[in-house]
Amino acid sequence: MNLRCSDCAHYWPLDSTRWRCDCGGALKIVGAPSFDLARVDEGNHTLWRYRDALPVPDGASPVTLGEGWTPLVATEWDGRSIYLKAEYLNPTGSFKDRGAGVLVTALKAAGVQEVVEDSSGNAGAALAAYAARAGLRATIYVPAHASPVKQAQIAVYGAEVVPVPGLRSEAARAVRRAAEKGAVYASHVYSPFYPQGMKTIAFELWEQLGGRAPESVVVPLGHGTLLLGMYRGFCELLSAGLVGRLPRLFGVQAQPCAPLARAWERGAADAAPVEEGDTIAEGVRIAAPPWGRAVLAAVRASGGSILALPDGETLAAQEKLARRGSYVEPTSALAVAALDHLRDRLGDILVVVLTGSGFKTMKQCTMKQ
Ligand SMILES: [Zn+2]
Repeated sequence: MNLRCSDCAHYWPLDSTRWRCDCGGALKIVGAPSFDLARVDEGNHTLWRYRDALPVPDGASPVTLGEGWTPLVATEWDGRSIYLKAEYLNPTGSFKDRGAGVLVTALKAAGVQEVVEDSSGNAGAALAAYAARAGLRATIYVPAHASPVKQAQIAVYGAEVVPVPGLRSEAARAVRRAAEKGAVYASHVYSPFYPQGMKTIAFELWEQLGGRAPESVVVPLGHGTLLLGMYRGFCELLSAGLVGRLPRLFGVQAQPCAPLARAWERGAADAAPVEEGDTIAEGVRIAAPPWGRAVLAAVRASGGSILALPDGETLAAQEKLARRGSYVEPTSALAVAALDHLRDRLGDILVVVLTGSGFKTMKQCTMKQ
């Protein structure tokens, strides 16, 4: 296994502490193990049932809180049968636990003792929890506008929370300065270990649907790490001959901050940065996604598309979903809201990934008598 730069194609030895190439390019793991049905640990009901498909050292003990193997809930939405992948039931309340679990396992095995990260909330909470589990010190740079509940959650795990005033991108700049001074940047955006955790969602869907892939998958889209991780997972299933084609992948952005949806509309190969507009879907408030080109290519290869919705539709979907018993944060409801716009394109076996818990954004609840 090696790391390969997506810009200059330079190869680096596999190193969990390296988050980018010296040229600044993002890194991918090449030669990583992939899905092998015969090597699934069927008695393990966490993502570690797929350990043999993950690039962690042989002797490493998984740093785990029981993440993964989340329920797939069959339900109905406007007369259509759909499945909800309940990622909000992961240990810290979001899908980010998959990436954090795999990354922290690799960092712990490498002897790392201290990590830094920037996050609007969910990735920070996940890293803080897995760092606590592994006995690592963590410092998380958070935009000051992030949900107070999320900031409090990060602090509860014992991480140092550094609120950064201004745009989300200011927190990203602050953590880079810390990384340039030598801190290990456990980035949910850049670390090539993160999508390796995300790919396990595709494996689980295949197993939970009885050995078949969905026809379509709808996810909220910010940086695109969830979409890219799932794309990788489905590609592995395709290579293993277990599915005949990739599911169509649909990414949903918030209209006030939608660089990928705009690029999609224009047929562009790369995302053009936009102004960072305010949105209740704070988990996808990403104005300049560094993986934009890869996300656009993956969506195109799958036959899906990218769209953007106004906050009003997101809030309505959040409430409608809660009235059916699923309480998720607005960023997750964004994906469900998109179903109204995609009606004819979805096929019969449709999965919506519910990424984060409603408990994380209590301030946005509306109380009714
Ligand atoms: Zn490079």
